Amino acid sequence: MRFADAFIHTLREDPAEAELVSHKLMLRAGMIQKLASGIYNYLPLGLRVIRKIEAIIRDEMAACGATELLMPAVIPSELWQESGRWSYYGPELLRLRDRKQNEFCIGPTHEEVIVDVARHGVRSYRDLPTTLYQIQSKFRDEVRPRYGLMRAREFIMKDAYSFHANEASLDATYWRMHQAYTRIFHRCGLDFRPVEADSGTIGGDVTHEFHVLADSGEDTIASCDACDYAANIEKAAHRDDGHVADVPDNAPVPEEVATPGKKSIEDVCAFLNARASDAIKLLVYDVNDGEYLVAVCIRGDQEINEAKLRGLLSADSVAIPDDADLAARTGLAVGFLGAHSLDRSCVREVIADWSVRGMTDCIAGANKPDAHVRHIYPARDLRIDRWADVGFVSEGESCPRCENGALRLRRGIEVGQVFKLGRKYAAPMHLSFLNEKGEQELVTMGCYGIGVGRTAAAAIEQHHDADGIIWPVGIAPYTVALLSLDPGNDEVRSVCARLHDELEQRDIDVLLDDREERPGVKFKDADLIGFPVRIVVGGRKVKGGTVEVRQRAGRTVEEVAFDKVADHVVTIVTSPGAI
Ligand code: ATP
Ligand code: MG
Repeated sequence: MRFADAFIHTLREDPAEAELVSHKLMLRAGMIQKLASGIYNYLPLGLRVIRKIEAIIRDEMAACGATELLMPAVIPSELWQESGRWSYYGPELLRLRDRKQNEFCIGPTHEEVIVDVARHGVRSYRDLPTTLYQIQSKFRDEVRPRYGLMRAREFIMKDAYSFHANEASLDATYWRMHQAYTRIFHRCGLDFRPVEADSGTIGGDVTHEFHVLADSGEDTIASCDACDYAANIEKAAHRDDGHVADVPDNAPVPEEVATPGKKSIEDVCAFLNARASDAIKLLVYDVNDGEYLVAVCIRGDQEINEAKLRGLLSADSVAIPDDADLAARTGLAVGFLGAHSLDRSCVREVIADWSVRGMTDCIAGANKPDAHVRHIYPARDLRIDRWADVGFVSEGESCPRCENGALRLRRGIEVGQVFKLGRKYAAPMHLSFLNEKGEQELVTMGCYGIGVGRTAAAAIEQHHDADGIIWPVGIAPYTVALLSLDPGNDEVRSVCARLHDELEQRDIDVLLDDREERPGVKFKDADLIGFPVRIVVGGRKVKGGTVEVRQRAGRTVEEVAFDKVADHVVTIVTSPGAI
C-alpha cells in the first residue's frame, strides 16, 4: 500500500477537544474522525488497527470453540420487555419507533437477542454446551462520552454468549474464555490484569474484568504484591481478622454533647477536637427504590462502598435518599444520626462496616438536632444486626487471600469482562432444554465482552512517547513504514519496490511512503502513526547496498543489506521481546 493512496491526513497540533493521549494521537494520526459526540468515523488507518484486534479475537474465539454469528443492531422492544430490562435500563438505552409506531432500541448489549436465537436452536441436552459470538457496533447513550474511542456512544464490541445444561459446564467455558481473553490481550501487546469484579445489574455472581494498567484509567484496581489476588476497588475485600474491640473496665460512659449546627464529620470533629477516625458515620440507604431502608455505619474517615452494600443485600439498587425526603418518611433527625440511639422501627436492619470493629471511645450522632454522643464503645453501646465488609480497601492493607501480601492500588482501563449469568435471562425468557431424563430445564448462561475500540485506545495509553504512538506489532496498522527519501531516483524506486514485495511475500504489511515530501515530514508522520519498524531507503547507503532499519520502540537503528532486510524484519517482529 502507498501512503498517498491510504487516505492518511495527519495533524501537527494537538486537537483542543482531546484530553487523553490516546484520543489526541488517534486524531492526530488520522485514525478516527468525530462525527458527533461519542460517534466516530474509523478512517482507513484506524480501521486497520480495529481489524487486527478483531482478527486476534476471532482466532482465539475459534480456538476455544466459539462460533461467530451476527445479530441486528436494531432490537424490537418486546424482547427487552420479556427480560424486564425495557423498564429499568434507563437513559443509556437509545429507543426509537418505526413508521408503524413499533418500539425498538439500538442494542447496548445482546443478551435478549441471543436468548431468542437460542430458543429456536437449543432443544435438548445434546445441543449444549454451545458458544456464539459476534463483533458488532453497540450504542449506549453515555452521560459523558469522552476520550474518543475509550468511552464512545457507538462502539465496536465482541460479545460472546455460552449456553449450558449445568453450572459445571458453565464453569468450564467461563475459565476457557478467561484464558482466551488472557491470550487476546497478551497478543495485543498489553500489560493487563484480570480482576474480580462486581456483577452489577447484568446479574450472575461471578465475574472478572480485564484491566489494562494505565494512570489514565477510570477504574481503581487493588492487587496483592505477593499472590495473584486482584479485584476492582468496588469488589476488593478487606481481610477478616478482627473482632469487636474490648471495652476496658474504666471506659467512660456515653455522654451527650451539644454540637450546634455541626452536621458533617469534619465540622463535628473539629468542634470536639477529635479525628474523623474517632467518629462513626451512619447513613440510611433506600433499597430497591423505595422497598425498604437500612442503616449503615462506617468509620468517619471512610466511605461506604455501595457496590458491596448492594451485593450484601442482594439488591438491585441502593441509594441515599434526599435529606428532606428521609426526614419526612421517617421523622429521623437527618444530619445527627447515630447507631447509639437510632429509632430502629424505620430501618430493616443496622449494618456496621468492619472498620467500626476496632474503634473505641468514639463519637456518633445523638439522633436529635444539634447533638452528638461521645465515649461510645461499639461492643457495649451499639446494637448492630450485621457486621459486614462494606468499605473500600486502601493502599498497603493486608491481602484478604494470602498471609504476607499487601494490597496495591492502581488505575486500570476495563477492556473486557466475563460473566457467569446463570439463569438471569433464561428464566424470564423461558430458554429451556430437555435434559437426559426428558424433563424441561432452564439453560445456564455466560456472557463475555471485549471493547475493540477501547482496546486500541488502551494500547496507545500504554505505548506512546512524545513523538507519537508506538504500536505493539500485533495490532499496528502496518508493521513497516518504507520511506523512500528520493522517489525520483530510479535506484531508490526499484529498491523500494523490491523490499515492498519481499516483505509482503513474508506476510509483513508495509506502507510505502514515496510522497514528494521532505524527509523530515515522512519521519515525523512515521513516528506519529507509530509503525513498529521504519525502513529508510535513500542517500549514500543505497549506493552501498544497504538501508536503515529502525525500531520504533527503543529506537534501535541498524544498517542492513538489501537481501537481508526481509529476514531481519521477520526476526524483529517475531522476537519474544517485541511488544
Ligand atoms: P464501563 O464500566 O466502562 O461503562 P461496562 O462495564 O458498562 O463498561 P460492559 O457491559 O462490560 O461495559 O461491556 C463490555 C466491554 O465493552 C467493556 O469491557 C468495554 O471494553 C467496552 N465498552 C463498554 N462501554 C463502552 C464505551 N462507552 N465505549 C467504548 N467501549 C465500551
Ligand atoms: Mg463491564
